[in-house]
Amino acid sequence: MKKVAIITGITGQDGAYLSRLLLKNDYTVIGLVRSKSSSSLRGLNYLNLASQIVLEECDLTDLSQILRILKEYNPTEIYNLAAQSSVSLSFAQPIGTFQFNTLSVFNLLEAIKQFNPLIKFYQASSSEMFGEVKHLPITEDTEFHPKSPYAISKAAAHWICVNYRESYNLFVCCGILFNHESHLRTDTFFVKKVIREAIKIQKGLSDQLKVGNLDIKRDIGYAPEYVEAMFKMMQQPKADSYLICTGSSVSLKYIVEYVFTKLEVPTHKIVVDEKLFRPSEIHDIYGSNKHINTSLNWEYNHTIETLLDILVEEELQNFTV
Ligand code: NAP
Repeated sequence: MKKVAIITGITGQDGAYLSRLLLKNDYTVIGLVRSKSSSSLRGLNYLNLASQIVLEECDLTDLSQILRILKEYNPTEIYNLAAQSSVSLSFAQPIGTFQFNTLSVFNLLEAIKQFNPLIKFYQASSSEMFGEVKHLPITEDTEFHPKSPYAISKAAAHWICVNYRESYNLFVCCGILFNHESHLRTDTFFVKKVIREAIKIQKGLSDQLKVGNLDIKRDIGYAPEYVEAMFKMMQQPKADSYLICTGSSVSLKYIVEYVFTKLEVPTHKIVVDEKLFRPSEIHDIYGSNKHINTSLNWEYNHTIETLLDILVEEELQNFTV
């Protein structure tokens, strides 16, 4: 019989790539969405997957709705990717971000505990939970010091997961992901925004790119490779938490200049605007992927340049205003 996986946040970047991987591995994929009529299937359509996925409406803040879905499909695995995932938006909507990003996790785990404790659960934890750290690289043992409402919500959700793993012996994996990009990122995220704006300037559709603090450094990887790590950790006999990262950081300045140079757009079109600086900012962050490498044999296969080359090419091929 086919294995059944439920994915929350299936309309997001990771949801689309994870769906593709699970379908390739012969799973039946159930995607939970807020509303069938208004959810965007852009990512699933881009990968030609929409017709192969069963979509179900489910309010993740309502335990009874999750229990209804579990009873109907009795999945072997649940991948929880749904979240208010924007750090910037979380400063504008801190309470809504915290409420959804934690309550949804509580409800999913409570539903598993009540309905079938053998269901495996994956939580999309975030490197933002670490905040400003004293020692780099970050490891699974680094203390959390979250610096945004988003990071606080993810740290709380992470500890909810660890608590259900330890208290009820549920199979709960946490993938602590560092920034990862793809063509399916929404336009508001930094790398995607830089590439799109550079193309617009190249085409005469825009005059300049306004950016915030370019001195900060981030560990940035490629989403299709990161979903493989998620899948791998869920196939193990024992659940654990793993960092998923490239192992090094790069400044945002380097990224902007690389993209502009590649597209032959003059770099004086990049304008730093202090109004775009965040209320609090992490200066530099990168992780060690030793644990996932030695335990699951997962390796990251790109450099920042090969990643940006892929993203620029794909954007050029699909560019619409
Ligand atoms: P994304 O593209 O922003 O997708 C977020 C998903 O969550 C969308 O499907 C969205 O559905 C859903 N969602 C948001 N608010 C919701 C709500 N109130 N009710 C139900 N669904 C809601 O995120 P992603 O980049 O794929 O990331 C997947 C997960 O990994 C997220 O939890 C994110 O926080 C985490 N993460 C991402 C990164 C990264 O660099 N991408 C790094 C670390 C952790 P709609 O289409 O209905 O809005």
